[in-house]
Amino acid sequence: MATVNKLFKKININGAVRTNEPMSAHTTFRVGGPADLFAIPVSTTDIVALLQFANRTGLPCFVLGGGANLLVADRGIRGLVIDMREFRHLRREGNELVVGAGRAVSEAAAAAVEMGLGGLEFLYSMPGSVGGAVWMNARCYGHSIDEILTGVAYVDEERRLQHYTPDPADFAYKRSPFQGRNSVMYTIRFRLHPDDPAVLRRRMSDYYRDRESKGHFAAPSAGSVFKNNREFGAPTGKLLDSLGLRGYQVGGAKVSDLHANIVINTGDATAADIRAVIEHMQRQAEVHLGLQLEREVLFAGEW
Ligand SMILES: Cc1cc2nc3c(=O)[nH]c(=O)nc-3n(C[C@H](O)[C@H](O)[C@H](O)COP(=O)(O)OP(=O)(O)OC[C@H]3O[C@@H](n4cnc5c(N)ncnc54)[C@H](O)[C@@H]3O)c2cc1C
Repeated sequence: MATVNKLFKKININGAVRTNEPMSAHTTFRVGGPADLFAIPVSTTDIVALLQFANRTGLPCFVLGGGANLLVADRGIRGLVIDMREFRHLRREGNELVVGAGRAVSEAAAAAVEMGLGGLEFLYSMPGSVGGAVWMNARCYGHSIDEILTGVAYVDEERRLQHYTPDPADFAYKRSPFQGRNSVMYTIRFRLHPDDPAVLRRRMSDYYRDRESKGHFAAPSAGSVFKNNREFGAPTGKLLDSLGLRGYQVGGAKVSDLHANIVINTGDATAADIRAVIEHMQRQAEVHLGLQLEREVLFAGEW
């Protein structure tokens, strides 16, 4: 590993490179041990060089957006983490918004509104990056991001620059074609529509207030732990509530008092504490309701 670290520090990219980077600084849960190698590319050339390095050294690669849907293990992540935060470009082309994958999706929504463009505001105040939202096919307030997606520029597994034009058949509830692949999205295009900024701003503050009332900003979390499933007849939060799970605690991790599908870090939680709470919720749903909940929060790193 020492040799790999030395080689990594000499890598020829314009972005920053670090070793032993604490992932707790990059996740909304505020937990997670160190990533062996951590890079912040500033161009597609940097991304390609990083993927080449990982390929040459046989190291696994993990792409990081806003870390808003991740539970990173206390032992951290072996291999290379590529942090997309510098891909923040944003411009209007007619009624399309062209955005860097690392830009916060909430910022992109607010910028679109100031340009008089509506369609992205449902994601205002949802944590995470534009790339992460596309990867997750983020959904809230009755809309999913695939409804407005018109294109994705990405670097593929073979380190080639590619362009993807969305096919509705590739997307489903919280599913996108980028899941299960090792590609790095860097620019995303959305089809929006002209609308009155005053109306859009009001809508954004309604969304913000709704999230605030559900405690989304009160403590570190990764939002909903489990996906909803129509076949279960009720939202997962309601189902978990019926099991009296609010307030269930292991160490510093606790099921939110405000929402039974959200686990919070009360201050000193470890990733293991959070995982233990999540697994307890899953077991309770299985034992008492006969339901297999599908996890939405991703477990990453070395467990
Ligand atoms: C308070 C709170 C509320 C939330 N509410 C909602 C909600 O209403 N609806 C909802 O859907 N989610 C919600 N979430 C979860 C989270 O905000 C979304 O899943 C978000 O889209 C994750 O984006 P991210 O950039 O943080 O991705 P990350 O957590 O960093 O990564 C998620 C996955 O995307 C991949 N990825 C990220 N960027 C790229 C890229 N550029 N190229 C390739 N792969 C990439 C990562 O490798 C990883 O596999 C909430 C989270 C919090 C903390």
